Amino acid sequence: MQPADIFTALFGEPAPFASGSQQVHSPIDGTLLGSLEPASPPVAQQAIAHAHAAFLQWRTVPPPVRGELVRELGLQLRAHKPALGALVTWESGKILSEGLGEVQEMIDICDFAVGLSRQLYGCTIASERTAHRMMETWHPLGVTGIITAFNFPVAVWAWNATLALVCGNSIVWKPSEKTPLTALACSRLLERAWAAFAAQHDLPAAQLWPGLHAVLPGGAEIGAVLAQSPQVPVLSATGSSRMGQQVGAQVAARFGRSILELGGNNAMIVTPSADLELAARAITFSAAGTAGQRCTTLRRLIVHRDISVQLTARLQHIYASIQVGHPLDPATLVGPLIDAEAFDAMQAALAQARREGGEVLCGGTRRTPVAGGWYAAPALVRMPAQTAVMQRETFAPILYLLEYDAFETAIALHNAVPQGLSSAIFTRDMQEAERFMSSAGSDCGIANVNIGTSGAEIGGAFGGEKATGGGREAGSDAWRSYMRRATNTINYGDSLPLAQGVRFDF
Ligand code: NAD
Repeated sequence: MQPADIFTALFGEPAPFASGSQQVHSPIDGTLLGSLEPASPPVAQQAIAHAHAAFLQWRTVPPPVRGELVRELGLQLRAHKPALGALVTWESGKILSEGLGEVQEMIDICDFAVGLSRQLYGCTIASERTAHRMMETWHPLGVTGIITAFNFPVAVWAWNATLALVCGNSIVWKPSEKTPLTALACSRLLERAWAAFAAQHDLPAAQLWPGLHAVLPGGAEIGAVLAQSPQVPVLSATGSSRMGQQVGAQVAARFGRSILELGGNNAMIVTPSADLELAARAITFSAAGTAGQRCTTLRRLIVHRDISVQLTARLQHIYASIQVGHPLDPATLVGPLIDAEAFDAMQAALAQARREGGEVLCGGTRRTPVAGGWYAAPALVRMPAQTAVMQRETFAPILYLLEYDAFETAIALHNAVPQGLSSAIFTRDMQEAERFMSSAGSDCGIANVNIGTSGAEIGGAFGGEKATGGGREAGSDAWRSYMRRATNTINYGDSLPLAQGVRFDF
């Protein structure tokens, strides 16, 4: 689909973004997709105030009814999946099947959140006092701020927004300055979902909409307004560790809560018993897919010395056949980098790797399948040791190869980086697999066996440790981050016994 058709499907007109100081160009070929006016800090503060007012109403709506809004959003996403998926491709550069996959992930989390709206469980706790009962209740927190990165421009919003909505919160979203149009499209779909929802329910609609959800296009200065506002009790921030360090400190300084989803530096260990063909497939998708621009991209491959030559040769053969090209071409596996800056960062990392004794086995050079975009051949780099360049995340398709002899050394190398997002092992040895997943194994939030580092499903909690920020989103009990817990003690007796046997007679 071309941009004009996409905009017509999503916004009802072919060129809805025709004026404003912020120009949005496609990484595919530099096409101007639109121009819009970014939000200013006062506008951001006003949006937060409106969201707070909407929250005061929304929190009183029963959770299963709140879930009905998310159900409507899921229906909108199903109906507009082709257009939204194509817009993700035009704006972020990922191949179409990944753009569509991102929208599918949104649909999946809608389904999850609708079910969750009837399962915001608290527990009942045995009391030490006669005729007493204790329980936990979970309550909405307030305005949920969401800051997102360019590489998952819509799914990360859906992970947060759907859970926040069923939990009873309102939302203010600051998307990446590189991908504001997909954000405005999501907002439009939620608006339509709201219209269908409001028509079926007897609610104080005027007090709830548009305050319940706002999008604020803009840069770091708008994210900073969210980070500093005491009216935003929880802020979910996805992006680089550098961003998380700033945002996390600002939220903590006002005793707010943050859900930090930051950079990864993900590794895979391949042991002698591994199915090497399966491993090669997983490595290729994890390392080269999305042009290396996933937080879960495989960046470090730690291979046992006995199989290193064989696996490296296989990977070089596969890498030679990877089509780098227009992401709407079905034969393309690797699309463009987001911009020239990303290409320069890739070149700088490759130069540093060479200085540190690395050998670029293949890739790394610029390709020009489409004029006006920054395309690069995915690179394989053999390294003599885990040097400085391997300590940081370069958001590009570079895979560093290291050899190991002893399993303990592989685990130590694996964990010896600042980040802790995703990890994998390929092995048929049960002891190695279990040790990798044990408390003495991978120190990451995600630890996979015989599957790559990327491609999370929404059913599990997603996030990582150390410089990845510690946040968890999507499935399992991640919903608790969007609520506050109250512990209730109820006395149904005729006396007032104190806890811990304390006496206070008078
Ligand atoms: P980025 O850090 O440059 O920007 C991310 C977002 O933060 C943008 O919306 C940006 O405007 C905002 N921002 C930046 N500095 C800010 C500040 N000081 N205060 C408030 N807001 C600020 O990241 P990017 O280049 O868009 O995305 C790539 C990064 O995101 C990579 O490091 C990647 O690993 C990470 N990422 C992590 C996850 C995860 O779930 N862990 C998911 C996707 C991307």
